[in-house]
Amino acid sequence: MSKYAIAIHGGAGTILKSKMTAEKEEEYKTALSEALMIGENILKDKGTAIDAVEAAVRSLEDCHLFNAGKGSVFNSKGGHEMDASIMEGKMKNAGAVATVTGVKNPITLARKVMEKSDHVFLVGEGVEEFARLHNLEFVDNDYFYDEFRFNQWQEIKDSDSFQLDHSDEKKEQKFGTVGAVALDMEGNLAAATSTGGMTNKKFGRIGDSSIIGAGTYANNDTCAISCTGSGEFFIRNVVAYDVSCLMEFKGMSLADASDEVINKRLLEINGDGGLIAVDANGNVALPFNTEGMYRAYAKSNGESAVEIYGDKK
Ligand code: ASP
Repeated sequence: MSKYAIAIHGGAGTILKSKMTAEKEEEYKTALSEALMIGENILKDKGTAIDAVEAAVRSLEDCHLFNAGKGSVFNSKGGHEMDASIMEGKMKNAGAVATVTGVKNPITLARKVMEKSDHVFLVGEGVEEFARLHNLEFVDNDYFYDEFRFNQWQEIKDSDSFQLDHSDEKKEQKFGTVGAVALDMEGNLAAATSTGGMTNKKFGRIGDSSIIGAGTYANNDTCAISCTGSGEFFIRNVVAYDVSCLMEFKGMSLADASDEVINKRLLEINGDGGLIAVDANGNVALPFNTEGMYRAYAKSNGESAVEIYGDKK
């Protein structure tokens, strides 16, 4: 039987067991398990990697716990602007959207850009026009309302500061961006990432999540990657593509390449976050340099895990 593998994330950051209630932990794990299962079932049934990553990310976008789709953070105007991207590793087709408002599942919109346009990246008013043209589901602003995230925005809305997703203490940072990477039984790789960006963001700020090569990348010869963390640093280090380059040009393994990028190169410029990665042999790597990262993976050999924390408790 050919191999498959899938990994997902729901963001990295200051996620400590000591700060989490058992109830909340259970909620996160259930949401992660559900998204993982949706993606894995597609791969088990000989479905494609691109279908698996889109479906897994849609499931996370529909959950209020994560900073993507329904759970997207508030921007400086009290609205929600979402970024997403998707890529397949065989022909390196890709689709990306940014500053999207009102669309229920931005990842599906990114896929439409990939499959139904001659372009890769759409932003601004045009992206909404494109979404309507392709009958994407729109939702009212109320759909995105979440009391916790509203209060979080209230705290900083009159300042110039912005914040990466929710945090109980000012210094804490959590990046609730979501993503998925997969290898299907045909040997094809795919990656998808979706986010609401940063609380109180302004000036049309766009992070790494919708940028091919920075937050998302897939190449059948090397790996599929989805990132989460301080987007500006991931853009500057072209993180997702860098992992692929280390494998292609230096012959590094998936584990070594992704560890080098997250725990060395990103730290050198004070960047924080993590990534999920899968290679053409079905190896999975989930490195992060923050306290925790919501993450899960499953492989055709039966191996699987749903995890939240790192070594620091
Ligand atoms: N990378 C995302 C951004 O900068 C944030 C996150 O990972 O939550 O927009």
